Amino acid sequence: MRAVQTLCLGSLATNCYLVYTGEKQVIAADIGGDAGKLLRFLEERKLTLSKILLTHGHWDHIGAVAEVQRATGAEVYIHEQDAEMLSDTTLNLASWIDPFCDCLAVTDYHTVKDGDVIEDGDAAFTVMHTSGHTKGSVCYICEDIILAGDTLFRLSRGRTDFPGGSDAEMLESFRKLKNLSGDYRVFPGHNEATTLEFERKNNPVMRGIL
Ligand SMILES: [Zn+2]
Ligand SMILES: [Zn+2]
Repeated sequence: MRAVQTLCLGSLATNCYLVYTGEKQVIAADIGGDAGKLLRFLEERKLTLSKILLTHGHWDHIGAVAEVQRATGAEVYIHEQDAEMLSDTTLNLASWIDPFCDCLAVTDYHTVKDGDVIEDGDAAFTVMHTSGHTKGSVCYICEDIILAGDTLFRLSRGRTDFPGGSDAEMLESFRKLKNLSGDYRVFPGHNEATTLEFERKNNPVMRGIL
């Protein structure tokens, strides 16, 4: 089973997941803050960070991306519909929720869309567009791993009351996830990890979907 390391970063302790794509190579999913903590982790283990995959553009998921990118040269990926949030602190909510955060603009990035595949080392990550929390929210799927961002949480779902949010789109995204075949390890943007089968059985939103 492919190794995944969790670090809680930033003022909301957002999950940053490191997925190993080689013996000493990782990708990171979301870097909400605490660049130094992540860089120290990489340094101590002599890991190369090759790519940063962003599940969406909220500040608590992108806050330290610019700093980490500068230090590591990692390539950044985000869905095309959330890309402008990388340089706009109103759109990414930093200016009204966490005005004192160091959310530097990310200007060097690749955009992705549904179905795109990002290869890294011995791994491949498929983009599943799962709007609802934001317009450009995505899940990245690699083997039995779902990097779920703020779409699917353990026993819950992401908020839809921020700009760009939509209840109808969230339900549609839940339907897509529920209808994947087989089981997956699910790594959400906040709180603990879960599995897709556990959520199919116990998540009240997912249970309500046929
Ligand atoms: Zn969010
Ligand atoms: Zn979040």
